[in-house]
Amino acid sequence: MTDLERLAELIFPNITETIEDLEKRYPERNLPEGAIVDRFAPSPTGFLHSGSLFTAMIQWHLALKSKGVFMLRLEDTDTKREVEGSGERLLKELAKFDIVPTEGYFGDHEEGSYGPYVQSKRSSIYNTVIKEMIKRGDAYPAFESEEELNELRKYQEVHKLNPGYYGEFAKSSFLTPAQAIEKIEAGEPYIIRFRSKGSNKNKIHFHDLIKGDVEVTENEQHIVILKSDGLPTYHFAHLCDDHFMRTTHVLRGEEWLSSLPIHIELFTRLGFKLPNYGHLPVIMKNDEGKRRKLSKRLDKEAAVSFFLESGYPKSAILEYLFTLANSNFEEWRLENMDADIRDFTFTFEKFNKDGALFDMDKINDISKERLCRLTKSEFTDMALAYAKEYDSNLLELINRDRAYFESIVNIEREKENPRKDYTKFSDVYEFVKFFYSDKYDELFAQGFEYNESKTKEDIKKVLSKHLESLGLELDEQEWFNNMKEAMHSIGYAVNKKELRDNPDEFIGTIGDASEIIRITLCGRKSSPNLYYVEKILGKDEIERRFNKIIK
Ligand code: GLU
Repeated sequence: MTDLERLAELIFPNITETIEDLEKRYPERNLPEGAIVDRFAPSPTGFLHSGSLFTAMIQWHLALKSKGVFMLRLEDTDTKREVEGSGERLLKELAKFDIVPTEGYFGDHEEGSYGPYVQSKRSSIYNTVIKEMIKRGDAYPAFESEEELNELRKYQEVHKLNPGYYGEFAKSSFLTPAQAIEKIEAGEPYIIRFRSKGSNKNKIHFHDLIKGDVEVTENEQHIVILKSDGLPTYHFAHLCDDHFMRTTHVLRGEEWLSSLPIHIELFTRLGFKLPNYGHLPVIMKNDEGKRRKLSKRLDKEAAVSFFLESGYPKSAILEYLFTLANSNFEEWRLENMDADIRDFTFTFEKFNKDGALFDMDKINDISKERLCRLTKSEFTDMALAYAKEYDSNLLELINRDRAYFESIVNIEREKENPRKDYTKFSDVYEFVKFFYSDKYDELFAQGFEYNESKTKEDIKKVLSKHLESLGLELDEQEWFNNMKEAMHSIGYAVNKKELRDNPDEFIGTIGDASEIIRITLCGRKSSPNLYYVEKILGKDEIERRFNKIIK
């Protein structure tokens, strides 16, 4: 046995497999030409970030369209930051957008033959690879204490040297295997580092699927691959996982671009085929003219749960994220208004390369547009699903009488230019509640505010007159003419011009009169078309409301 072999045995006495065994256990996948195998690899550290949804959505769509594989791998090696239950929560939140892995971690179970899909369960794989790297001299135990590393950092700072553990500063790399064995046997704590052979004087040219051709500096850092807790670092886990899971496309946030040289060296040194890399833009926000990263701490829209709790339809969010991802999506959408979003094909060249700006106004617009195009029954189904989970007030109203609810949300819907009353389902309850007598009475108890210039007498007169000539049996145009006439007879001009020409003859315009009616019926100045409101309420309820005010 060579000294290197003795060292490897000493560190991993229980590892009996080899890299070759792993290659056999996880063979190349047998997929059609062009099939993309990619993965979403979240850390279970809390909620699903909107940026992660963006990434997952792209990975899911690319895999789906190419008849490939979309894996979910849980990257739980940072035990300090782990939040109990967040793996399941991520899955659940993704599923709300129909993003479901085809393979991998599914909370209570796993699917697929390339697992385990949770990193903390993959120790034997990592250790197998490291054991062989030690035998080859490509990895070694390093014994520096935290203090020594801090001193090194300070020294490099003072002397304006590149920071890190490399070259002459990689002290443990100069130990002979026999010396390392001695230290381990003496009980000295250690971690495992990669022995880099690179130099930061060299450049590497690389084609990134999204960023295009990039030039990066070769890695020279002897990075940590196994931490003192026995778990791998991201870099090393990425190497083993994506190689043995046969990932073809690593699509990840651009914050990883700077570590790409490490990954290139790791893959090359092990003789593993380099996957395709695509570094996706970070989601940015315009904060009073300044661009910054969407922040978990500052921005409610950074959490996917915000969109779910607010009741944005999933189609609107996906639609928006597609717009952010590919510059030609909007054009495609205009030409294919009713097509399923899954019919669109992403093109790597058309990906937005730089920080994608997250724009709530645009999301709201898309969402309004989506909601107004639904039929009343589709709308009600979705409202019901939302209400069941998030809005008990709304649920109670829908359950009282579904047909009545549908008639409300159907006001000026199902036509060419439908009304855009709702941005999200959390708007619905507040918007519709005045249609319900008991809710109306609650509003009434809080008091209604009429225009100050209107006297009690004016209000009473308008309401009494309108009640006398409701005309609910008329069509919309006739109803309006009828109201105009009635209001004219008690001193309301048909339009502003008439009022301007004869200011002494009129109290106001028909607009002022209908505002009085509107506030009386709805408790507020803006409402859907009054004609439909009245038809839904019916004569008795209108009369009841008018009399309450008149009294
Ligand atoms: N766990 C890493 C992250 O959350 C995954 C990056 C990758 O996709 O490789 O950023």
